[in-house]
Amino acid sequence: MTPGESTPAEPSGETAGAREPVVALRDLTRVHGSGETEVRALIGISLEVASGELVAVMGPSGSGKSTLLSLAGGLDTPTAGNVVVEGVHLSSLSKRQLARLRRTSIGYVFQDFNLIPALTAAENVSLPLELDGLAVRKARRQALAALDEVGLTELADRFPDEMSGGQRQRTAIARALIGRRRLVLADEPTGALDSQTSEAVLTVLRARCDAGAAGILVTHEPRYAAYADRTVFLRDGRIVDETARSVGAGRTNAIANVNAASVGAGATGE
Ligand code: ADP
Ligand code: MG
Repeated sequence: MTPGESTPAEPSGETAGAREPVVALRDLTRVHGSGETEVRALIGISLEVASGELVAVMGPSGSGKSTLLSLAGGLDTPTAGNVVVEGVHLSSLSKRQLARLRRTSIGYVFQDFNLIPALTAAENVSLPLELDGLAVRKARRQALAALDEVGLTELADRFPDEMSGGQRQRTAIARALIGRRRLVLADEPTGALDSQTSEAVLTVLRARCDAGAAGILVTHEPRYAAYADRTVFLRDGRIVDETARSVGAGRTNAIANVNAASVGAGATGE
Protein backbone atom coordinates (compact mmCIF):
# COMPACT_ATOMS: atom_id res chain seq x y z
CA MET A 1 0.00 0.00 0.00
CA THR A 2 1.39 3.43 -0.92
CA PRO A 3 2.03 5.82 1.98
CA GLY A 4 -0.85 8.12 2.77
CA GLU A 5 -3.38 5.78 1.24
CA SER A 6 -6.07 4.79 3.63
CA THR A 7 -6.99 1.20 4.24
CA PRO A 8 -9.35 -0.23 1.66
CA ALA A 9 -12.97 0.50 2.39
CA GLU A 10 -14.57 -2.43 4.16
CA PRO A 11 -18.32 -2.74 4.30
CA SER A 12 -18.90 -2.02 7.98
CA GLY A 13 -22.02 -2.65 9.97
CA GLU A 14 -24.16 -1.98 6.91
CA THR A 15 -24.27 -5.52 5.61
CA ALA A 16 -27.51 -7.40 6.13
CA GLY A 17 -25.60 -10.13 7.97
CA ALA A 18 -24.52 -7.70 10.66
CA ARG A 19 -28.10 -7.09 11.78
CA GLU A 20 -29.94 -9.56 13.91
CA PRO A 21 -32.46 -11.23 11.66
CA VAL A 22 -36.14 -10.86 12.53
CA VAL A 23 -36.51 -14.56 11.91
CA ALA A 24 -33.85 -17.27 11.76
CA LEU A 25 -34.58 -20.85 10.81
CA ARG A 26 -31.68 -23.02 11.93
CA ASP A 27 -31.28 -26.46 10.46
CA LEU A 28 -35.01 -27.17 10.55
CA THR A 29 -36.38 -30.63 9.96
CA ARG A 30 -40.06 -31.56 10.11
CA VAL A 31 -41.07 -35.19 9.87
CA HIS A 32 -44.72 -36.29 9.83
CA GLY A 33 -45.64 -39.80 10.93
CA SER A 34 -43.16 -42.65 11.28
CA GLY A 35 -42.11 -45.90 9.67
CA GLU A 36 -43.87 -46.72 6.42
CA THR A 37 -45.95 -43.54 6.45
CA GLU A 38 -43.09 -41.20 7.36
CA VAL A 39 -43.07 -37.96 5.35
CA ARG A 40 -40.05 -35.70 5.61
CA ALA A 41 -41.68 -32.34 4.85
CA LEU A 42 -38.51 -30.31 5.52
CA ILE A 43 -34.91 -31.43 5.83
CA GLY A 44 -32.14 -29.24 7.26
CA ILE A 45 -33.52 -25.87 6.24
CA SER A 46 -31.60 -22.74 7.28
CA LEU A 47 -32.84 -19.29 6.37
CA GLU A 48 -32.58 -15.82 7.87
CA VAL A 49 -34.74 -12.83 7.02
CA ALA A 50 -33.71 -9.37 8.18
CA SER A 51 -35.75 -6.27 8.84
CA GLY A 52 -36.60 -4.61 5.53
CA GLU A 53 -36.25 -7.83 3.60
CA LEU A 54 -38.86 -9.79 1.65
CA VAL A 55 -37.92 -13.36 0.72
CA ALA A 56 -39.93 -15.35 -1.81
CA VAL A 57 -40.22 -19.12 -1.46
CA MET A 58 -40.95 -21.10 -4.61
CA GLY A 59 -41.16 -24.80 -5.32
CA PRO A 60 -43.48 -27.51 -6.59
CA SER A 61 -46.58 -28.60 -4.70
CA GLY A 62 -45.58 -30.74 -1.71
CA SER A 63 -42.04 -29.34 -1.55
CA GLY A 64 -42.55 -28.01 2.00
CA LYS A 65 -43.40 -24.33 1.44
CA SER A 66 -46.42 -24.23 3.78
CA THR A 67 -44.56 -26.28 6.36
CA LEU A 68 -41.70 -23.77 6.31
CA LEU A 69 -44.13 -20.90 6.87
CA SER A 70 -46.00 -22.70 9.68
CA LEU A 71 -42.73 -23.35 11.49
CA ALA A 72 -41.52 -19.76 11.02
CA GLY A 73 -44.82 -18.50 12.44
CA GLY A 74 -44.82 -20.82 15.44
CA LEU A 75 -47.95 -22.65 14.25
CA ASP A 76 -46.09 -25.94 14.00
CA THR A 77 -43.12 -27.36 15.89
CA PRO A 78 -39.98 -28.65 14.18
CA THR A 79 -38.83 -32.24 14.69
CA ALA A 80 -35.27 -30.88 14.88
CA GLY A 81 -33.67 -27.45 14.65
CA ASN A 82 -34.62 -24.02 15.94
CA VAL A 83 -36.84 -21.11 15.04
CA VAL A 84 -35.67 -17.78 16.47
CA VAL A 85 -37.93 -14.72 16.19
CA GLU A 86 -36.37 -11.42 17.23
CA GLY A 87 -33.79 -13.28 19.26
CA VAL A 88 -36.33 -15.50 21.05
CA HIS A 89 -36.14 -19.28 20.61
CA LEU A 90 -39.74 -20.32 20.06
CA SER A 91 -39.05 -23.64 21.77
CA SER A 92 -38.28 -21.74 25.00
CA LEU A 93 -41.78 -20.21 25.15
CA SER A 94 -44.82 -21.54 26.97
CA LYS A 95 -47.98 -22.02 24.90
CA ARG A 96 -49.35 -18.78 26.26
CA GLN A 97 -46.16 -16.83 25.50
CA LEU A 98 -46.05 -18.27 22.01
CA ALA A 99 -49.69 -17.30 21.40
CA ARG A 100 -48.90 -13.77 22.55
CA LEU A 101 -45.85 -13.50 20.29
CA ARG A 102 -47.97 -14.71 17.38
CA ARG A 103 -50.64 -12.09 18.08
CA THR A 104 -48.26 -9.18 18.52
CA SER A 105 -45.28 -9.81 16.26
CA ILE A 106 -46.30 -12.21 13.52
CA GLY A 107 -48.80 -11.60 10.75
CA TYR A 108 -49.93 -14.68 8.88
CA VAL A 109 -51.88 -14.83 5.63
CA PHE A 110 -53.16 -18.36 5.18
CA GLN A 111 -53.68 -20.10 1.87
CA ASP A 112 -57.38 -20.51 2.71
CA PHE A 113 -57.88 -17.08 4.39
CA ASN A 114 -59.11 -18.42 7.79
CA LEU A 115 -61.57 -15.61 8.40
CA ILE A 116 -64.17 -16.10 11.12
CA PRO A 117 -67.57 -16.28 9.33
CA ALA A 118 -69.58 -14.76 12.22
CA LEU A 119 -67.40 -11.62 12.33
CA THR A 120 -67.42 -8.68 9.91
CA ALA A 121 -64.29 -7.71 7.98
CA ALA A 122 -63.42 -5.02 10.55
CA GLU A 123 -64.05 -7.42 13.45
CA ASN A 124 -61.88 -10.10 11.85
CA VAL A 125 -59.07 -7.59 11.40
CA SER A 126 -59.33 -6.09 14.89
CA LEU A 127 -59.60 -9.43 16.67
CA PRO A 128 -55.87 -9.91 17.33
CA LEU A 129 -55.67 -6.46 18.91
CA GLU A 130 -58.75 -7.04 21.05
CA LEU A 131 -57.43 -10.40 22.20
CA ASP A 132 -54.36 -8.49 23.24
CA GLY A 133 -56.42 -6.17 25.43
CA LEU A 134 -56.78 -3.09 23.23
CA ALA A 135 -60.07 -1.21 23.69
CA VAL A 136 -62.67 -2.13 21.06
CA ARG A 137 -62.92 1.40 19.70
CA LYS A 138 -59.14 1.77 19.28
CA ALA A 139 -58.90 -1.67 17.75
CA ARG A 140 -61.65 -0.77 15.27
CA ARG A 141 -59.88 2.45 14.31
CA GLN A 142 -56.71 0.51 13.52
CA ALA A 143 -58.71 -2.14 11.66
CA LEU A 144 -60.30 0.51 9.46
CA ALA A 145 -56.85 1.94 8.69
CA ALA A 146 -55.56 -1.53 7.77
CA LEU A 147 -58.62 -2.18 5.57
CA ASP A 148 -58.05 1.18 3.92
CA GLU A 149 -54.47 0.14 3.11
CA VAL A 150 -55.81 -2.80 1.07
CA GLY A 151 -58.62 -0.76 -0.50
CA LEU A 152 -61.55 -2.21 1.46
CA THR A 153 -62.78 0.80 3.44
CA GLU A 154 -66.29 0.42 2.02
CA LEU A 155 -66.62 -3.22 3.04
CA ALA A 156 -65.63 -2.98 6.70
CA ASP A 157 -69.03 -4.10 7.96
CA ARG A 158 -69.58 -6.97 5.52
CA PHE A 159 -69.39 -10.58 6.61
CA PRO A 160 -66.98 -12.94 4.79
CA ASP A 161 -69.83 -14.64 2.88
CA GLU A 162 -70.86 -11.24 1.52
CA MET A 163 -67.45 -10.68 -0.07
CA SER A 164 -65.67 -12.05 -3.15
CA GLY A 165 -62.65 -14.32 -2.80
CA GLY A 166 -60.37 -11.41 -3.55
CA GLN A 167 -62.02 -9.21 -0.94
CA ARG A 168 -61.77 -11.97 1.66
CA GLN A 169 -58.10 -12.39 0.85
CA ARG A 170 -57.46 -8.67 1.22
CA THR A 171 -59.26 -8.76 4.57
CA ALA A 172 -56.92 -11.56 5.65
CA ILE A 173 -53.96 -9.46 4.56
CA ALA A 174 -55.23 -6.46 6.54
CA ARG A 175 -55.48 -8.74 9.58
CA ALA A 176 -51.89 -9.88 9.07
CA LEU A 177 -50.62 -6.30 8.79
CA ILE A 178 -52.49 -4.71 11.70
CA GLY A 179 -50.49 -3.53 14.69
CA ARG A 180 -46.73 -3.53 14.65
CA ARG A 181 -46.11 -6.95 13.12
CA ARG A 182 -42.42 -7.39 12.58
CA LEU A 183 -42.74 -10.64 10.68
CA VAL A 184 -45.27 -11.10 7.88
CA LEU A 185 -45.77 -14.58 6.44
CA ALA A 186 -47.93 -14.99 3.36
CA ASP A 187 -48.81 -18.38 1.85
CA GLU A 188 -49.76 -17.85 -1.80
CA PRO A 189 -51.67 -14.69 -0.90
CA THR A 190 -52.52 -13.97 -4.53
CA GLY A 191 -53.98 -17.41 -5.28
CA ALA A 192 -57.57 -16.14 -5.36
CA LEU A 193 -56.87 -12.72 -6.83
CA ASP A 194 -56.93 -11.22 -10.32
CA SER A 195 -53.65 -9.77 -11.47
CA GLN A 196 -54.49 -6.16 -10.69
CA THR A 197 -55.55 -6.97 -7.12
CA SER A 198 -52.48 -9.19 -6.75
CA GLU A 199 -50.20 -6.30 -7.66
CA ALA A 200 -52.00 -4.12 -5.12
CA VAL A 201 -51.61 -6.72 -2.37
CA LEU A 202 -47.93 -7.27 -3.13
CA THR A 203 -47.34 -3.54 -3.16
CA VAL A 204 -48.77 -3.39 0.37
CA LEU A 205 -46.59 -6.30 1.48
CA ARG A 206 -43.51 -4.72 -0.11
CA ALA A 207 -44.25 -1.37 1.57
CA ARG A 208 -44.56 -3.08 4.94
CA CYS A 209 -41.14 -4.66 4.49
CA ASP A 210 -39.66 -1.35 3.31
CA ALA A 211 -41.03 0.11 6.56
CA GLY A 212 -39.00 -2.41 8.56
CA ALA A 213 -40.89 -5.71 8.68
CA ALA A 214 -39.38 -8.98 7.53
CA GLY A 215 -41.50 -10.93 5.07
CA ILE A 216 -41.69 -14.41 3.62
CA LEU A 217 -43.89 -14.84 0.56
CA VAL A 218 -44.80 -18.24 -0.86
CA THR A 219 -45.74 -17.88 -4.50
CA HIS A 220 -45.93 -19.84 -7.76
CA GLU A 221 -45.57 -16.73 -9.89
CA PRO A 222 -42.07 -15.55 -10.85
CA ARG A 223 -43.37 -12.06 -11.46
CA TYR A 224 -44.68 -11.86 -7.90
CA ALA A 225 -41.41 -13.28 -6.59
CA ALA A 226 -39.85 -10.26 -8.30
CA TYR A 227 -41.22 -8.13 -5.46
CA ALA A 228 -38.84 -9.97 -3.14
CA ASP A 229 -35.19 -9.18 -2.45
CA ARG A 230 -34.27 -12.81 -3.06
CA THR A 231 -35.91 -16.14 -3.76
CA VAL A 232 -35.25 -19.55 -2.27
CA PHE A 233 -36.33 -22.63 -4.19
CA LEU A 234 -37.54 -25.73 -2.35
CA ARG A 235 -37.70 -29.26 -3.65
CA ASP A 236 -38.53 -32.34 -1.58
CA GLY A 237 -38.08 -30.41 1.65
CA ARG A 238 -34.66 -28.97 0.86
CA ILE A 239 -33.43 -25.60 -0.38
CA VAL A 240 -32.05 -26.45 -3.81
CA ASP A 241 -31.28 -22.98 -5.07
CA GLU A 242 -31.24 -19.41 -3.88
CA THR A 243 -30.86 -16.10 -5.69
CA ALA A 244 -28.28 -13.62 -4.36
CA ARG A 245 -29.40 -11.25 -1.68
CA SER A 246 -29.99 -7.80 -3.11
CA VAL A 247 -31.98 -5.55 -0.85
CA GLY A 248 -33.78 -2.98 -2.97
CA ALA A 249 -34.22 -5.27 -5.96
CA GLY A 250 -37.77 -6.11 -4.93
CA ARG A 251 -38.58 -2.44 -4.63
CA THR A 252 -37.26 -1.70 -8.12
CA ASN A 253 -39.04 -4.72 -9.58
CA ALA A 254 -42.24 -3.74 -7.78
CA ILE A 255 -42.20 -0.39 -9.52
CA ALA A 256 -41.43 -2.05 -12.88
CA ASN A 257 -44.29 -4.51 -12.33
CA VAL A 258 -46.78 -1.78 -11.51
CA ASN A 259 -45.72 0.07 -14.65
CA ALA A 260 -46.07 -3.10 -16.74
CA ALA A 261 -49.51 -3.81 -15.23
CA SER A 262 -50.66 -0.29 -15.96
CA VAL A 263 -49.92 -0.71 -19.67
CA GLY A 264 -51.91 -3.93 -19.70
CA ALA A 265 -49.10 -6.50 -19.68
CA GLY A 266 -50.44 -8.24 -16.59
CA ALA A 267 -52.36 -11.31 -17.82
CA THR A 268 -51.56 -14.56 -16.04
CA GLY A 269 -52.28 -18.10 -17.07
CA GLU A 270 -54.26 -18.84 -13.90
P1 ADP B 1 -46.30 -27.20 -0.16
O1 ADP B 1 -46.87 -26.08 0.66
O2 ADP B 1 -44.99 -26.87 -0.80
O3 ADP B 1 -47.28 -27.72 -1.17
P2 ADP B 1 -46.43 -28.69 2.34
O4 ADP B 1 -45.52 -28.00 3.26
O5 ADP B 1 -47.88 -28.47 2.50
O6 ADP B 1 -45.97 -28.44 0.83
O7 ADP B 1 -46.17 -30.27 2.48
C1 ADP B 1 -44.88 -30.85 2.40
C2 ADP B 1 -45.00 -32.36 2.53
O8 ADP B 1 -45.42 -32.68 3.84
C3 ADP B 1 -46.03 -32.97 1.59
O9 ADP B 1 -45.54 -34.23 1.19
C4 ADP B 1 -47.24 -33.11 2.47
O10 ADP B 1 -48.06 -34.16 2.01
C5 ADP B 1 -46.62 -33.43 3.82
N1 ADP B 1 -47.45 -33.00 4.96
C6 ADP B 1 -47.78 -31.72 5.26
N2 ADP B 1 -48.53 -31.68 6.38
C7 ADP B 1 -48.68 -32.97 6.78
C8 ADP B 1 -49.35 -33.61 7.88
N3 ADP B 1 -50.01 -32.90 8.80
N4 ADP B 1 -49.28 -34.96 7.96
C9 ADP B 1 -48.60 -35.68 7.04
N5 ADP B 1 -47.94 -35.15 6.00
C10 ADP B 1 -47.98 -33.82 5.86
MG1 MG C 1 -48.71 -25.06 0.47
